[in-house]
Amino acid sequence: MKKITIIGAGIGGLTAAIALEQKGFKVEVFESATKFKKAGSGINLAINAMLVYKRLGIYDTIVRNAHISNSMNIRTKDLRFITAINLSKVEKEFDTKTVAIHRATLHHILIQHLDGVDIHLHKKLKTLKQSNGKVELSFEDGTTHTTEIVIGADGIHSAVRKSIFNNTTLRDAKQICWRGISKAKINPKHKGELNELWSKGKRFGFVHITKDEIYWFALINKKKFINKNIDLQELFSDYHPTIKSIIEETPKEDILCNELWDLKPIEKWYYKNVCLLGDAAHATTPNMGQGAVQAIESALALSICLEEENSIESAFRRYQNIRKEKANYVTQTSWKIGKLAQTENTIICAIRNFMMKKLPARITENQNRKLFKLNF
Ligand SMILES: Cc1cc2nc3c(=O)[nH]c(=O)nc-3n(C[C@H](O)[C@H](O)[C@H](O)COP(=O)(O)OP(=O)(O)OC[C@H]3O[C@@H](n4cnc5c(N)ncnc54)[C@H](O)[C@@H]3O)c2cc1C
Repeated sequence: MKKITIIGAGIGGLTAAIALEQKGFKVEVFESATKFKKAGSGINLAINAMLVYKRLGIYDTIVRNAHISNSMNIRTKDLRFITAINLSKVEKEFDTKTVAIHRATLHHILIQHLDGVDIHLHKKLKTLKQSNGKVELSFEDGTTHTTEIVIGADGIHSAVRKSIFNNTTLRDAKQICWRGISKAKINPKHKGELNELWSKGKRFGFVHITKDEIYWFALINKKKFINKNIDLQELFSDYHPTIKSIIEETPKEDILCNELWDLKPIEKWYYKNVCLLGDAAHATTPNMGQGAVQAIESALALSICLEEENSIESAFRRYQNIRKEKANYVTQTSWKIGKLAQTENTIICAIRNFMMKKLPARITENQNRKLFKLNF
């Protein structure tokens, strides 16, 4: 039985661990965090992620613990529709739901689905070296560990990636994003809706993750950023009163604030016995809600390739062939959407909203179909 070492117990690393364990690999995971925190944020899992979880037998548990989204809407700041995508048609075709879930809940479910996998916490990888078919991992606590196959699922700032490639570039989207979970009681008609409200240089999104909890995110351009403790109610005071109540009913200490960056698509995802997965390989801005979803796709695809191919090299090559085009498409498209969504030019905003209103639903549906379909 081949032994596989995964660096990083995020959504990508844990999904890969489940998929590999189900295929009979002996898996171990090294994670830098000292414990799993209850991050104050939710996540949207589009159909392609849920198709993977169906194949891994986790779909029903996730659906039970999440909130189903029936539509994806882009709206003006006063909640009028710019576009409304009804998800039911495409959900029916794929026989799969789109959900929004608390990240900590998803994390917990993933860990529950691991059986004999050792997760070593408080193990921050510093660097790795490869020689004679072996990989030696060195951790910040001074310990080392030797193994045969390594999957780097250690996020956008991947130490694994830096150990095997020295020419990769992170791109600053020049946008700031706050995220929180609110207990606000809003109009029940919004249940099942994934809403984004666009205006000039600002966005606010919200979706239910349980019947009483709303996950929200707010974006501004970096040049307008003063500090992360900025008064968000004041910042979005020109938005619909629903937004004010969502922010008001959020514990301030749990609000996350991040700069948005992505990884400029890289040529190769592996070197000898070490392979990258998730944000380590294909980090994207969150404008399509596909970052973790792509990590989840990569996790299953890599496990299939490692099971079916005779050599590590051919498994990694096939995995890259299967996944790279779609992951890069997401990264590049999401980058462009982010720029358009955050424009501060009044005329471009007006043209953008007009064009989006006029775009026939079947075009968006076809794009989604292509995105949601698994090619492995
Ligand atoms: C504001 C925002 C909103 C988003 N919304 C969505 C969404 O709705 N849907 C979606 O699909 N995606 C979304 N994403 C993207 C998504 O969060 C990421 O793509 C996803 O978390 C990537 O998973 P990962 O496992 O590859 O990496 P990560 O989640 O970054 O996990 C990496 C893990 O590795 C660990 N680690 C890091 N360095 C080391 C080291 N040196 N040694 C050991 N362990 C290490 C970390 O502690 C972490 O546990 C969003 C991102 C942002 C910023």
